[in-house]
Amino acid sequence: MFPKHKRIIDKKMIQACRKRRCEYCGAVTNIEPHHINTRGSGGGDIKENLIQLCTQCHINAHSGVLSKEECLEVVAMREGISIDAVYTINRKAMGYDV
Ligand SMILES: [Zn+2]
Ligand SMILES: [Zn+2]
Repeated sequence: MFPKHKRIIDKKMIQACRKRRCEYCGAVTNIEPHHINTRGSGGGDIKENLIQLCTQCHINAHSGVLSKEECLEVVAMREGISIDAVYTINRKAMGYDV
């Protein structure tokens, strides 16, 4: 007998599936990805640099009402790492010597 179907729980996958909501305010409509460090400034397409935001939070993020630090905090909580680690990963991705 084969063992019962093993439950493979990939936390990251589950989180990815759940991400269709604003990671800042929890809204479920008009969700779009935002690059915390803009592509123009060298920000990468890495999960540590991406946050799903609703239109309003997205506007706030671009106008500075929602600060980069707040976004990075959300990412740090989501990834279960420190804000420092998020900073470091992003700086590395941007080609800095950290
Ligand atoms: Zn929002
Ligand atoms: Zn954006």
